[in-house]
Amino acid sequence: MIPEAEIGISHDYELVDLRADFSTENVAAAWLMLALGDSREHAGNDGYDDSVSLHYSWDSTVQNYARVAVGDVIALWDRKELIGVSVIEAIDTASAEKVLYSCPRCGKADIKRRQREKPAYRCGKCGHLFSTPRQKTKPVTTYRSAHGKRWMNGRGLLSGSELRALCDAPKSQLSMRPARWKRLRQALLDATGQASTVKDIAAAARLAVAGGHRQSLVRTRVGQEEFRKRLLREHGEVCAFTGPTPADALEAAHLYSYAESGEHHEHGGLLLRRDIHRLFDLGRIAVDTSSETLDVASSLDGYPCYAQLHGQSLTLQLSPEQKFWLDAHWLSKRPRV
Ligand SMILES: [Zn+2]
Repeated sequence: MIPEAEIGISHDYELVDLRADFSTENVAAAWLMLALGDSREHAGNDGYDDSVSLHYSWDSTVQNYARVAVGDVIALWDRKELIGVSVIEAIDTASAEKVLYSCPRCGKADIKRRQREKPAYRCGKCGHLFSTPRQKTKPVTTYRSAHGKRWMNGRGLLSGSELRALCDAPKSQLSMRPARWKRLRQALLDATGQASTVKDIAAAARLAVAGGHRQSLVRTRVGQEEFRKRLLREHGEVCAFTGPTPADALEAAHLYSYAESGEHHEHGGLLLRRDIHRLFDLGRIAVDTSSETLDVASSLDGYPCYAQLHGQSLTLQLSPEQKFWLDAHWLSKRPRV
């Protein structure tokens, strides 16, 4: 039996280059997340997220998967109406295998299960009728937000069409859609009049606090010598981008954001040479996680010691968590370089 969520939602299987159209302007301050309860299956586990007020799960086959960040506002809905609103406190990542179903003739994922007729499946692309979909497994990164602390129950406060109108693309079919916190906040205020609750959410959303600007996901924390020492113990005297480097010239680069929760992400750090760390913070050096190679901005072309790093592999194997944060770094930094 194929879960409904696995068929007929072809957009879930399209990986798009999120970097191409990304600019500071369209950084999402809020996300409208589709929570379909029992009919929505998540990769890597058989279940379903038990409680929408605590967690939301997605994986790397879903559009916008790497753009969602700690501190973002999350609004959950079920297509009909709003369920509730909160702020993401943390995002856990893991690796999993996802089973993808497709048409055995044309290979497209746009297949529908028919209620009564046989054979049971019809391809929406080529019209082929068949009884057994093609299956293949694909390694994915799974993500799960924790957002229980600021949860505001909003069941029915806003209708599906009101929510769609808050999104950047009202006709979008995506399960995770960028929205505007400013607009959402106003709509919630209009609907509830509960200024204190809405303000509480606003205060917790770092971007709302920062006047609409997303704070950097890359922060250098002072006084975190312990974190640096741990990275040195784990990796030795090696800069993750350039290779062997004496400990005196190595710094711990924090890839994660502490946001409001102050939670420490286990895999959120890299040892970097001090000058490299500075250029990384500025986005002039970034990591292309698809090839696990360095991407050096063309503004550094005139400096051979940095320009030569372009296209080179990192000196370590990246964990899914590190890839997640490095994607976030790219997305938040690259448009400004
Ligand atoms: Zn087909």
